Amino acid sequence: MVIKIAARESANELLSATMRQIEFAAEKIGLESGVLKILSKPKRTLTVSIPVRMDDDTTEVFEGYRVQHNLSLGPAKGGIRFHPSVNMEEVIALAMLMTYKCAVVNIPYGGAKGGVICNPKDLSLRELERLTRRFTSEISIIIGPEKDIPAPDVYTNPQIMAWIMDTFSMQHGFSIPAVVTGKPIEIGGSEGRNEATGLGVVYSIEEAASKLQLDLSGATTVIQGFGNVGSVAAAALSELGCKIIAVSDSKGCIYNEKGLNLAALKAHKEQTGSVINYPDTNIITNDDLLALKCDILVMAALENQITGENASKVNARLVAEGANGPTTYEGDQVLNQKGITVIPDILANAGGVVVSYFEWVQGIQHFFWTETEVKKQLRRRMNTSFSHVYETSSSYGVSMRTAAYMLALNRVSTAMNIRGLYP
Ligand code: NAD
Repeated sequence: MVIKIAARESANELLSATMRQIEFAAEKIGLESGVLKILSKPKRTLTVSIPVRMDDDTTEVFEGYRVQHNLSLGPAKGGIRFHPSVNMEEVIALAMLMTYKCAVVNIPYGGAKGGVICNPKDLSLRELERLTRRFTSEISIIIGPEKDIPAPDVYTNPQIMAWIMDTFSMQHGFSIPAVVTGKPIEIGGSEGRNEATGLGVVYSIEEAASKLQLDLSGATTVIQGFGNVGSVAAAALSELGCKIIAVSDSKGCIYNEKGLNLAALKAHKEQTGSVINYPDTNIITNDDLLALKCDILVMAALENQITGENASKVNARLVAEGANGPTTYEGDQVLNQKGITVIPDILANAGGVVVSYFEWVQGIQHFFWTETEVKKQLRRRMNTSFSHVYETSSSYGVSMRTAAYMLALNRVSTAMNIRGLYP
């Protein structure tokens, strides 16, 4: 119960921060109030009950959601999250973020998100498969390669995408790989999808560093969250010469001012399940980690981490938001006042959806690219998007976050206006 209330508060915080940022950007571009009214609500929400036969032959009923926020630019795109704290407010906020993320990197998708309230760690593999297949069946009325294309998110993975793809295909009688992205390569996944978000974060850091005249060689770097996004970003930054001085995961934070060996740290995490107890490091608190003096702070864990309370202590030149919504509205104001450059989530972590888009295109064409080609196209799109956001931010004298929302809102609202309001 306490977890549920906290999760709902956190989701409300994310939704309200997103709405406030959108309203601010809307004002800057003089967005018509009717368009803003439409965009402040999701187009379609679906709540489903998911009965599952458990291994002990009892039946459990889980609750799941799929939300499509706005489809003006194309089919809906967004991940599916399996987590005990999933709730409708959170799914709506994340679907909204997807609309603007797709628009900011100029890919032809609308925003969506889905989730099931469950703890996959408490389920056997077979229970997880039955849950996934029944959830897919329940939401199959609104998903499809031309309608809505799910992808992995927190606690969902390529295997779960494979079950979604198989269930949807079985219902239609033929294989439909383009119904999901983030699939295993053997059944139509894309090269480079696993590293895409972390690499996209790094490509955007490289662009920002050149604008800030920040030399990446020796740049001190702190990473909050050493999972998929954080560990890939850390390794790529380290290859560029950055000195990773602190990292954290859900078990704690470690620090060594001389820098960490990323390959050895990754091996340690794989062996022990956490970054903590890595040799020659000090354990510090999360508050200490966020306050470390550094050139680059990569946020790659959870939402609502930099807040009105702790933002004044952030001592970085550049903050890159690998996670979705890691900074609250108040936290963002403080970072802006302090003159800290923030690469906002809808730009910094868009690499994942960009390569998902590449996977979908490859699947529809039945023609697959090399990893080199995927990375080249990812870098091109991230760099172009970064330049557009940066130029907008400079010419309007606004933060990169506001600029990203201005660009995205412009693209979405232009499509809405050209299409017109039905009927
Ligand atoms: P992940 O589960 O692989 O990693 C998350 C990491 O954060 C884990 O190491 C976990 O231990 C750590 N963590 C959890 N709680 C923490 C805490 N309180 N303090 C410090 N660390 C903590 O997930 P991921 O795929 O790397 O996603 C990270 C973030 O990036 C999420 O916000 C996700 O929504 C966002 N994101 C991911 C992708 C993607 O393609 N994976 C795309 C866009 C956005």
